[in-house]
Amino acid sequence: MFFSKKEVDDKDKWREKYLELLDDQEQADKGRQEHEQLLCRAIIRLSIAATGFDRQLDPHLKRIREQLKAGIDSHKLKAELENFTQAVAQLQNTPPQNHQLDAGLLIDFLLQQYSSPTHQHLLHNAKKQAEDNQFENTNQLFSTLLNALESEHQTSPIDGLISSHIDTEIVSRQLLHLLEGIKIPGVFERQAQTVKQLLIESSQSTEIFEPVLNKSVDLLLKITQYNQAEQQDVDKFLGVLTDKLAEVSLALIGVSSVATETAESRSHHDQSVTAQMQQLQANSASATSLEPLKAAITERLTTITQEIQRHSETEQSLRQKTKQQLEELNGRIANMESESSELKSKLILANNQAFRDSLTGLPNRTAYNERLEAEIARWKRYQAPLSLIVWDVDHFKRINDTYGHKAGDKVLLLIARQLAAHSRETDFISRFGGEEFTMLLPNTNKESALILANQLRATIEKTGFNSNGSAVVVTISCGIADFHSGDDDETVFERADKALYQAKQQGRNQCCLG
Ligand code: GH3
Ligand code: MG
Ligand code: MG
Repeated sequence: MFFSKKEVDDKDKWREKYLELLDDQEQADKGRQEHEQLLCRAIIRLSIAATGFDRQLDPHLKRIREQLKAGIDSHKLKAELENFTQAVAQLQNTPPQNHQLDAGLLIDFLLQQYSSPTHQHLLHNAKKQAEDNQFENTNQLFSTLLNALESEHQTSPIDGLISSHIDTEIVSRQLLHLLEGIKIPGVFERQAQTVKQLLIESSQSTEIFEPVLNKSVDLLLKITQYNQAEQQDVDKFLGVLTDKLAEVSLALIGVSSVATETAESRSHHDQSVTAQMQQLQANSASATSLEPLKAAITERLTTITQEIQRHSETEQSLRQKTKQQLEELNGRIANMESESSELKSKLILANNQAFRDSLTGLPNRTAYNERLEAEIARWKRYQAPLSLIVWDVDHFKRINDTYGHKAGDKVLLLIARQLAAHSRETDFISRFGGEEFTMLLPNTNKESALILANQLRATIEKTGFNSNGSAVVVTISCGIADFHSGDDDETVFERADKALYQAKQQGRNQCCLG
């Protein structure tokens, strides 16, 4: 393809124009970016500078800064700036807190006193801020002024008397107002009182005002330094306190787990201590000054200690109560035990009385009847031999008559002992009545029973009875019968009784089989 010269020139022109346009575009983009960055930086700096003037604005400023760090997002930034504007508008609606304060006069005065360029510059700035109502309170104004004055180590104002157009009375009033407005730590209380007094006295005279002013500034500087140092102490103290609280908390968990009280009581205790802890943490978080914080913490710790004490007292009283209840219970059980054992003894005694003969201690006739019934049942079941011996003391009436009834009783007792001592374990002896005894001999036929009976009879015969030193002859006789089929208790007894009669008839001191 061919082009004419004109065509070529036109084409180059367009090309140049196009490149120029591109350059312009590039320049414009670059410029916009630079502007944008500049704007970002300016807004960030402004927001940093504005931070701290008002608590309500601070979060907005922070958010705006964060927004800008990530680059400009016009929608979000617009929304944030609108929020911020609203917050500022609200602030403007709220009445200024220190409307009585005329900071301008004070700053004029300081401008007179501190002549260095740095002081002048900073004080002028402060004055502008004051005029724009940028100080939230006197403390802020004051700290700005102090910062300005501290910026150079100019220890005293320029020589010379205070300029005549500054009204010392107004300045004194302002200083007094400042001193009233700031929180004076306890250690400076006296010094502050003195300075206040001096300010009141010096307001009438410009000559002594200068040293008083120096004293005031000196005091205010000290207070600032003290507050800064104290803030550091507060931080350190809070660190230590957090550790202590954790320890106390652990200790409390220990106390609770050791406790043996009811779940209800424990949960009440835990809630109470938790509330105290939360209060402590709230106090710590909002603390700006060490002394009140210490006082608040001491109070809270006292409450916690009291709580723990109350808890342990409750626990102790619960334990005491339980112990008492246990003791009472034990006492009642012991009483019941002794009552029941008494009852048992009474029962045994009653049983003994019912089944024992009181003179000889042998089973009585009732016991004999019971035993006889049991032995007969056994004899019937096993068909083992069973014998019955019926004993009777020979001429017992004569013994009674000769030696007296008591001696007769003693004879009966001795006979009972001898019979019991010389009979077998399984044999059952009883006092049947009067001077008659019976013996039930299980597994024994009448022949074996006769042998045993004769041994017993011989034993009694040989026993040396005596009354008041003189020998008493005592013998016994018996009749023996054993159980045969078809027998009952009466038939066997009758046979034995008959045999006894026979023994008596044959001359006594003998045993006969029935
Ligand atoms: P026998 O040799 O024929 O049996 O003559 P006996 O005198 O022993 O018989 P008897 O039945 O005539 O007398 C029994 C006496 O035993 C009568 C009674 O006063 C006496 N007696 C009964 N029970 C007791 C007692 O518990 N104590 C005393 N001391 N004497 C009693
Ligand atoms: Mg008799
Ligand atoms: Mg007799």
